[in-house]
Amino acid sequence: MKQILIIEDEKRIAHWLKTYFERAGYAAETVLDGLTGLSRAQSSNPDLIVLDLMLPGMDGMEICRKLRQESDVPIIMLTAKGTQPDRIGGLETGADDYIVKPFDPEEVVARANAVLRRVKGKVINTISAGPLTLNHDAQTVALNDHPINLSQQQFALLQAFISHKNQVLTRDQLIDLAFDNQYESFDRAIDTHIKRLRKMIHSDDYNPIQTVYGAGYKFVVEEA
Ligand code: CA
Repeated sequence: MKQILIIEDEKRIAHWLKTYFERAGYAAETVLDGLTGLSRAQSSNPDLIVLDLMLPGMDGMEICRKLRQESDVPIIMLTAKGTQPDRIGGLETGADDYIVKPFDPEEVVARANAVLRRVKGKVINTISAGPLTLNHDAQTVALNDHPINLSQQQFALLQAFISHKNQVLTRDQLIDLAFDNQYESFDRAIDTHIKRLRKMIHSDDYNPIQTVYGAGYKFVVEEA
């Protein structure tokens, strides 16, 4: 289920949006202030964020700017001001779309659907991380141009790691990202998958999956 994070200080609007998103088959969470919103966005890896511009703590622009430094998560900005400079400002900050208040919540859901479809279509087929190249379509992986055979689970894990490189991922986040929660709380199963994945992709001087004690795992990519 796609996760929507709604950062909006007007309780009534936040609740209203949450209800509409849930009716449309999404999981939705609401946060009522900017600082909590930013940290929730960073920790919960939502599929899309609905972000109000005027917020206590930290405003929507600033949150958007900060998030853009570390992720491509789709962001829809809500703004009470419909003037042109604000619109442009919202998009320049890296928001994918903006909606002027007052709005119809059904329109917000429709725009979210559209943004998510666009993002899906934009997925790059091949990504590289150090000596690894991963092809999403063919579900193949090569290490130093030599193909390696990963199981479906190992591939899904590697895909999750590479799309969140240099970030600490908890076991729960990895299970969520790689297996759509099918494993729920089988922490040990994930450790076993990671152990096998490590064996498959490591070479003499390459071992990108680090254990972060007490937290989870991190896929380390040295930026060239
Ligand atoms: Ca507000």
